[in-house]
Amino acid sequence: MRPAEWHRDSAFVDGQWRPAESVVSVEDPATGEAIGTAADSSAALVDEAVAAARRAFDSWAATTARERAAHLAALHRELQARRDLLVRTTVAEVGAPVRVAREAHVDLALDIVGYYVDLIANLDDGPIEQVGNSLVFREPAGVVGCITPWNYPVYQLLIKVVPAIAAGCTVVAKPAELTPLTAYLVADAAQAAGLPAGVLNLVPGRGRVVGEAIVTHPEVDLVSFTGSTQVGARVAARAATTLKRVALELGGKSASLVLPDADLATAVNATVDSATLNTGQTCSAWTRLLVPQEAYDDAYQLACARAGELVVGDPTREETDLGPLISAGQRESVTGMVARASAAGARCFQPPLVLPERGHYTAPVVVGGVPPEAEIAQEEVFGPVLVVLPYRDEADAVRLANLTVYGLAGAVWSADQERALRVARAMRTGQVDINGAPFNPAAPFGGYKQSGYGRELGRHGYEEFTQIKAVQL
Ligand code: NAD
Repeated sequence: MRPAEWHRDSAFVDGQWRPAESVVSVEDPATGEAIGTAADSSAALVDEAVAAARRAFDSWAATTARERAAHLAALHRELQARRDLLVRTTVAEVGAPVRVAREAHVDLALDIVGYYVDLIANLDDGPIEQVGNSLVFREPAGVVGCITPWNYPVYQLLIKVVPAIAAGCTVVAKPAELTPLTAYLVADAAQAAGLPAGVLNLVPGRGRVVGEAIVTHPEVDLVSFTGSTQVGARVAARAATTLKRVALELGGKSASLVLPDADLATAVNATVDSATLNTGQTCSAWTRLLVPQEAYDDAYQLACARAGELVVGDPTREETDLGPLISAGQRESVTGMVARASAAGARCFQPPLVLPERGHYTAPVVVGGVPPEAEIAQEEVFGPVLVVLPYRDEADAVRLANLTVYGLAGAVWSADQERALRVARAMRTGQVDINGAPFNPAAPFGGYKQSGYGRELGRHGYEEFTQIKAVQL
């Protein structure tokens, strides 16, 4: 039985459900079957949502941080009560393997909500500093538009909406067309938590309609966007017409740089796991493995062996490592890029798997024998594809790591921590993990270069939704 919560036809505006003029069906990528519906909202509904957020702003911005913490703690409890449904819905709408949905989508997102509750619970509402005769205050940025992609839908929504609300902003959020159902569960939780009307508004719909209406609306003060670099550039350009602030979390092509003194097998296995996490649909995935020339053949073989161990199939099963890709179009895009690389002479290893007949499945791919300038070594594939590249020396390794238009994440592997830190600092990218250090949700996350600007997560992610005022005495 499919949950009733998957059949929706409304936007959440001013604390109420407002039916949209039409609905779209939501597909399970593992079967291709329609599993639910969502609102296909109009720009007029965006206007109403922005008006509601604007009306709610003054009183919400005037609350103390402690009062907002109490509201967000209630939201956190309501989200926790929906945890299993959030996991099930993530598996159904994204096709994410259930283990990944539980750990990397839902539990991580709920932990981050808890982190923000704690961050603001004891925050002083007074000035943040005194400079000469000036008191400096941190104030909410205003009405915020949050636009999110389909790859980690509930996580990406919560890591924007929660710090924005925590900072005293009110929000109009738009989830991705392909994955709106988890966002509805967040709105349900906000309603059940008694969040004041208009503080969080949810307007599901198309990017060109709802997204553009948010980005160009004169009453929206700031847009926080996560998605592709191409759409991000359009969002920045359209937002410029009203001079609104924009934070952009975009694509990546991150390097995992293995220094000669590292444990090769450990580094290669972790890199394959990163490149294939969430079926390769992770913006911060390490999708380029850089290894010393003399270790190249061994590294390639190790990567193929690891790829061969991955279980591809039904995402509802605990043992599954890779589920389907999000859509038929995404599978075409991924297989097309691999086919072009092959045609140009690349070595493309795919484990010999029997893939399910229905659903948008693809096997993991390890690509070797390509120049670093090749399309597959430069463009974000957004599928389970790892490119292995050789380097001559440390300087060459850093050059290759920086040889893309992106700069979102990265890894360095070495027995010498000081050397690893030196290399990490030379990489033009927003995050680097040394020797497989764990993800830290309190650390700032975001891009250099065409991976975007602005930071999410932690204190920096909170401050993104504030502005600074100086009062002279
Ligand atoms: P996308 O850019 O197609 O869409 C993202 C969101 O923007 C969706 O909600 C979409 O409806 C909306 N949108 C589309 N056109 C719009 C427009 N003209 N104006 C306003 N909004 C519009 O991205 P996607 O395909 O959903 O997601 C995959 C991409 O997201 C990948 O490139 C991935 O790297 C990136 N991503 C980045 C991060 C990060 O934090 N850096 C995280 C996850 C995903």
